[in-house]
Amino acid sequence: MTHVPDRPAFEAGSPERPTWPAMRRGLRQRCPNCGEGTIFKSYLKLRPSCGTCGEDLSHARADDGPAYLTILVTAKILGTLMLFVFERWQPGPYVLAAVFSVGAILMSLYLLPRFKGMIVGIQWAKRMHGF
Ligand SMILES: [Zn+2]
Repeated sequence: MTHVPDRPAFEAGSPERPTWPAMRRGLRQRCPNCGEGTIFKSYLKLRPSCGTCGEDLSHARADDGPAYLTILVTAKILGTLMLFVFERWQPGPYVLAAVFSVGAILMSLYLLPRFKGMIVGIQWAKRMHGF
């Protein structure tokens, strides 16, 4: 599958920045401005600026937001799934705990950087914290 940017890079001084494209780019862990450069230099550590377009990313202040969203989504999905699995197959408590513990860890590790990218995208689009 080839990647086609959903929109061109926005001008630095333009007054409005579309929020949804910036959120989608953040969910893909890409620069909210150009959608090409990666925003992370490690698992959750942001680059100071985009390597492709040079957009300054040092203003991002995601704080607890990504962790909150990760817990919210993981708990809702796995909690519902756990109830369904228990009602349907009634596995032993240790099996249920082991499977869903591993599932919660893997799902959290998958979602956390994506939600952080999404929040950085929102902050960039809304020009928060000096963006
Ligand atoms: Zn960029």
